[in-house]
Order: sequence, then C-alpha cells, then structure tokens
Amino acid sequence: MSAIYAVMGYPIGHSRSPEIHARFAAQTGLDLEYRRIQVRPGSLASAVENFRADGGRGCNVTVPLKEEAAKLSDELGPEAGQAGAVNTLTAGAGGRMRGDNTDGLGLIRHLRANLRVNLEDARVLIIGAGGAVRGVLPALLAESVGETVIFNRTRERARELARRFSSLGAIRVAAAGDAGLPAVDLVINASSAGISGEPPGLAPASARGALCMDLAYGRAAQPFVSWAREGGARAAHDGWGMLVEQAAESFRIWHGTRPDTTELLQP
Ligand code: NDP
Repeated sequence: MSAIYAVMGYPIGHSRSPEIHARFAAQTGLDLEYRRIQVRPGSLASAVENFRADGGRGCNVTVPLKEEAAKLSDELGPEAGQAGAVNTLTAGAGGRMRGDNTDGLGLIRHLRANLRVNLEDARVLIIGAGGAVRGVLPALLAESVGETVIFNRTRERARELARRFSSLGAIRVAAAGDAGLPAVDLVINASSAGISGEPPGLAPASARGALCMDLAYGRAAQPFVSWAREGGARAAHDGWGMLVEQAAESFRIWHGTRPDTTELLQP
C-alpha cells in the first residue's frame, strides 16, 4: 500500500500541492499517495486524527489552519515555534505530532537560488500581516536584509508583528498614504486581497524599480502582478516558485531527501 500524505485547508480545491508531491515522488522513486482534504477552521484536530487512523504519515496545512496546526503539535521545529504557525505536520511514535514551518526556507531558497536576488541590505516592503508573514519575516531578517517596512490593511496587526520580531532586525510600519515610504528593492505581497480580485491598498509607485513577488499563485496573483507592472517594477512574479520550494522542504522532512525543483520551475 502507498504511504499516505495530504494537504489540508479551507478551501482546498485550488491547491497544486498534490501535483508537486506526485512529481517529486516520481523523481525519487517513492510510492506515495498525496490527498487534498478540505477542513473547516476549528476541526483540524479531528481531521488529523481521522487521517492518522487511515494510515496518514504527514500533511501540509494551508490557509486558514496554520495557527491551529501549531496548537495541536506536540513538538515544534524552530521556525514553526518562532512563527506560531505550522505548514508541515509529521506523525511520530505514540500518536505524537511534530509541526514544522517551511514557508520561510522556501521563500529564501526561491529568491536566492532561482530569482538570484541579493538579499543582504536589500530594502524590503511586505504587504500583509497574517500567518504567512510570521513564517517569512524571520527568514528574511536572518538574511541581513536592510530596513523592512510592513504595510497591512489592519495597521495594528502590522504593529504587533513589528513588536514580535523587533529583536531580529529593523522593522517599520507604514500607512496607506505614507508620504515618507522609502524606495525598496523587494516587494513581497502576503496579503490575500488578490483572492477577491483586489490589488494591494498602496500606490503602485511603491513598486518602482523593485523585484515584486506575490506569495499567492495563479489567478489570485494577477491583481498584484498588474499593480507591480503599472508601478514600474523591475520584475513581477507569483508564488509558484515559493510553493515548489517549500514543498521540497516538506518532502525532505518526510522522506529524508530533497528533490530537484528545477523541472517544476520551468516556465
Ligand atoms: P492570512 O489569512 O493569515 O492573512 C491574510 C492577510 O491578507 C492579512 O494581512 C489581511 O489583512 C490581508 N487581506 C485579506 N483580504 C484583504 C483585502 N481585501 N485587502 C487588503 N488586505 C487583505 O493568510 P496567510 O498570511 O496565511 O496567507 C497570505 C497569502 O499567502 C495567501 O494568498 C496564501 O495562499 C499565500 N501563501 C503562499 C505560500 C506559497 O508557498 N506560495 C505560502 C504561504 C502563504 P487584515 O489583517 O487587515 O485582515
């Protein structure tokens, strides 16, 4: 029987994680089944229990369940502990569950190895202040980026994040009409506004000359990509590359080998 893995989220029909893990399995010669499981917020614990009873060995967790996944983990990896959010659950002995967060590693790997971005001293604008930012912000700060500016629709959430990670680097919180917003080298969109077809709530000029990347992929990234191009961005990317790289990290945790991602990143 194939080993069973899955991705859980709500909604989940759009997720391309099954396709990515199937390609990694074919490449590494592993026999596994990777399912998509829709789980409503508040019911992750019972979904994981049923999954384990079915023989499930590990699952990815996506929006909006990452904080819930952290709470049900018996043990957290260092990135997950720092973020308070888990995207990779691994079944251990005696019913124990380990939680890891590979979003930060996936983003950094994609920026550095695939997009060839020099992060040292880069000025960064992050749009959004949800669970994904808690995963990627410490990873960016660990790369010695320069000043990091966070803009979020709800400003208090951006302030909370700035306070939480202030010991890791210089973080400033911006408001929509902020005339003193500095020019930046990199814009990361971690707001889910694109899912409802909306661009970020900042002037497109904020993207001028910057490399812009949405964490969302496919259609949900289109409003941000258009916004970045309108503002004169140096380049505008969606989050497919990060999705592939964070999946490769989850695969490594579960199977002990990191698959080659190049084939999946071909345009
Ligand atoms: P959360 O739900 O935790 O946070 C959503 C964020 O988007 C909040 O900052 C929220 O602002 C903001 N937002 C939502 N709707 C709007 C809107 N209409 N206008 C302006 N801001 C809005 O989600 P996550 O942080 O977990 O995920 C964010 C995005 O990143 C998702 O699209 C997700 O799919 C993607 N992602 C991609 C990954 C990849 O591997 N490529 C990995 C992780 C995430 P407010 O605080 O005001 O509510």
